[in-house]
Amino acid sequence: MNNNYEVAIIGGGIIGMATAYYLSKKGIKLVVIEKGYIGSGSTGRCIGGIRQQFSNHTTIRLMKQSIELFSQMEDEFGFTVEFYRGGYLLLAYDKNTEKVFKKNIKIQHKEKVNVSLLSPDDIKKLVPHINTDDIISGAFCPDDGQAFPFAVLRGYKKIITENRGDFFLRKEVVKLNKNKNFSIILEDGTKIEAEKVLLSTGPWTRELGEKVGLNLPLYPERHEAMITERMPKFFKQMIVDYRSDGCYFHQLINGQVIGCYTPVPNVPGIREDASFEFLPNIAWRMTRLVPSLKNASVLRHWGGCYTMTPDGNPILDESEIEGLYVASGMSGHGFMFGPAMGKHLAKFIVEGKWDMDFKDFSINRSFKISREYLK
Ligand SMILES: Cc1cc2nc3c(=O)[nH]c(=O)nc-3n(C[C@H](O)[C@H](O)[C@H](O)COP(=O)(O)OP(=O)(O)OC[C@H]3O[C@@H](n4cnc5c(N)ncnc54)[C@H](O)[C@@H]3O)c2cc1C
Repeated sequence: MNNNYEVAIIGGGIIGMATAYYLSKKGIKLVVIEKGYIGSGSTGRCIGGIRQQFSNHTTIRLMKQSIELFSQMEDEFGFTVEFYRGGYLLLAYDKNTEKVFKKNIKIQHKEKVNVSLLSPDDIKKLVPHINTDDIISGAFCPDDGQAFPFAVLRGYKKIITENRGDFFLRKEVVKLNKNKNFSIILEDGTKIEAEKVLLSTGPWTRELGEKVGLNLPLYPERHEAMITERMPKFFKQMIVDYRSDGCYFHQLINGQVIGCYTPVPNVPGIREDASFEFLPNIAWRMTRLVPSLKNASVLRHWGGCYTMTPDGNPILDESEIEGLYVASGMSGHGFMFGPAMGKHLAKFIVEGKWDMDFKDFSINRSFKISREYLK
């Protein structure tokens, strides 16, 4: 095998795979290197939510494009990715949260997102099973939705393979150097040369970057999720309870309910373990909001990482090392960002210029101002 490539993509999560897919469509000679299986990092642990309700113009624009791309996947791949627009309903229980929603809705309307503020009565009509006690309002966008991460990855892998992209799976990158080209050494000693390299290694990006002298402000933290057995479908929306003891969950098209909550305080580090306290906590939080879930049977529960940055926005840029690109820090949104981000990144890697303004995601920005309120 000739191990020389135009682009090597390290990390077979949604970001690496989406970028590889678009690079492969441009005829670029590429390899994806993944230390586990495709989707074994954060992507395979996410709950598949897709929304446009953000507070930042760049993110909203990106998400509008991503939703469009998700909607085209079934035709492109020849099988369903379970993309479904059931909407995202964000709930406010206090005036401050409502103020943030109202401010965001103004920004979202400027970007022509179909979103509105609903009263508790409207919310009850939309989701009859919801307990509206203490809810003061909700932001709702019917065009937001969901897709199945493993089906999306499978589709990308199918087309990348058809386009003659290579894969090194279950091979960890242990060394990365740059002379004229990049030299990448895998755990079994295999050497790969590439003109350009993308670090799309999710929570592991900081430690891999350190191997080439990059100091990236990336902070992984553990988030857990659970899924129930199938049940008759009785709500369509992703319901997001923004209280500090809230949670977020939706019903998949096969009837399973899948959900998470954000732990307070956060649980820092690259952690994929599952805690004892999560299940009783999420059961209590979910049934407080939708009491009819009280007889649902939980099938399994797991842990995975959000990779955070200090300002809540991702890093999407070429680093100070020419030809070395970084795409990480996706917080809880990397799955939904993936398609559009991969498309832009592939173009940037090939042509050296962005076709959208990504200065809010630049590697050299000041990370001090919080840019995303709906993390
Ligand atoms: C519980 C939970 C729920 C979530 N829900 C949502 C949601 O509803 N919607 C949403 O959009 N996002 C959600 N997210 C966030 C989303 O999962 C991530 O933002 C996204 O998957 C990040 O993708 P990635 O490609 O950057 O990283 P990853 O998917 O982590 O991919 C990185 C890959 O790099 C590989 N790798 C790392 N180091 C090396 C190395 N040295 N050599 C070779 N390979 C290496 C890893 O094995 C991994 O597969 C959720 C996350 C969690 C944990």
